[in-house]
Amino acid sequence: MFKSSRVPRPMRIPPALDPRAAPTEVAPKHALLINPFYPKDPHASFGKHVLTPSLALTSIAASTPADWSVRYWDENLLHGPPPWRPFPQVVGITVHLTFAERAYELARWYRQRGATVILGGLHVVSCPEEAAIHADALAIGEGVQVWPQILRDVESDCLQAIYRGDYRRPYREAPAPRRDLLPRDSFLTTTSLIATRGCHNRCGFCYLATDGLHMPYLMRDVEQIVAEFQSDGQAYGVFVDNNLGSRPDYLRRLCRALRPLEKIWSAAVSIDVTDDPMLIREMALAGCTGVFVGFESLQGENLAAAGKKSPRPDDYARRVRIFHDFGIQVNGSFVLGFDHDGPEVFSDTVSWIEQNRLECATFHILTPYPGTPLFRQMESEKRLLHRDWSLYDTAHVVFRPRRMAPEQLQDGYAWCYQRLFSHRSIWRRRPLDGRAVMPYLAMSYLYKRSNFLWQFLIRHRLTASVWRPLVEVTRRRHLRYRQQLETAAPSRYGAAGSVISPGV
Ligand code: SF4
Repeated sequence: MFKSSRVPRPMRIPPALDPRAAPTEVAPKHALLINPFYPKDPHASFGKHVLTPSLALTSIAASTPADWSVRYWDENLLHGPPPWRPFPQVVGITVHLTFAERAYELARWYRQRGATVILGGLHVVSCPEEAAIHADALAIGEGVQVWPQILRDVESDCLQAIYRGDYRRPYREAPAPRRDLLPRDSFLTTTSLIATRGCHNRCGFCYLATDGLHMPYLMRDVEQIVAEFQSDGQAYGVFVDNNLGSRPDYLRRLCRALRPLEKIWSAAVSIDVTDDPMLIREMALAGCTGVFVGFESLQGENLAAAGKKSPRPDDYARRVRIFHDFGIQVNGSFVLGFDHDGPEVFSDTVSWIEQNRLECATFHILTPYPGTPLFRQMESEKRLLHRDWSLYDTAHVVFRPRRMAPEQLQDGYAWCYQRLFSHRSIWRRRPLDGRAVMPYLAMSYLYKRSNFLWQFLIRHRLTASVWRPLVEVTRRRHLRYRQQLETAAPSRYGAAGSVISPGV
């Protein structure tokens, strides 16, 4: 593991913007969309930043009028600062809490040279006054909806200060993201997919609970998802939905439509999706090889206080087994520092992860995002330590925990990752089936213990070449497993169920 001081500079510091750059003219009807740099957490895997791209900017690019040209730039791909030749007439920048300062720096740089800068993203929803100072206009809410109007108003020289998009428009009307703009070798897969928006839960710490963000649960037509998955031509897709399992009937329909593709995919789901083990079987038959599950806490009091409707934590282990029984790996997400968490939470959580052989886990320090119920609570109890948004990244303690000192929480968080990424822990969590162990180890060591390599791989666009052979091995293994699952004998999950091993 890297100590902070050993995080390579390009993973810590954004690329320098040239103060002497002096474009001679603005290219009319040319737009540049930027995902700003953010510093990488030395405790987590650097590989997670290049798994799959966010869909925010490629979706906005897709709604750009046909007579405009558009370019995409992600500073986290370590290819230097965003381009300025040709100099864009309009620059759209995503602003999130943790990289707001970098977004504002970019905005200043382009505005000083004659570009019109539009800021959008979640931080613009929660802190519009702060963002407005740095922009010619703000896109608040659904950017895809307002972007064409913004560009038309730029053309007509009648730009307004604020554009508001709501999330009520039928989701199927959103155009397919422009994945062709992405550097394909820079990600494990460019096939980020989104089928649904919103979540049936409303946890007090989640960004979905931000004031002013009214995001009803919306679903796209399953045929659209299948067409996008097919057309991107990659073997592995990642659903970036908040919770693909919110509507079991929809998930079942989606699985049946995906099944003939013979591709593999992963998705975030809440653990209650295991209420129906046959739905998990459908997921496996459709190519699901991994789920990201927000367990958040193993203490029921914490979940209740956060307003999370969830099965009892003492039933989590049985539910994890259901995923494993159908060959689906589990990446658990845990939040540390809730009011009922004492210093024992770190070892308790990691022991539970090891006992239940979660193949992967991510840890997050509880973080009160501005505009959420948790932020209001912490503010009223005077427990916020500061408002340096760059540290509101779930890797730093920004509030006073109830049952331990801030330093204990910070150290405990680092300890959890060190323990999880240790040889001993990786080995303890290996799959029960011996034939699945080698691919698991290869993936684990690449993802969790290769931070020294990631800077090189990312900078030289080697992410895909190194990672995709492992994906193909997994896909082939999964297809063989599916054949067995289709004909599996009756089991404890019912007539069509299975307890056969995926390691074939
Ligand atoms: S279940 Fe997850 S996505 Fe849904 S509101 Fe809670 S934290 Fe957010």
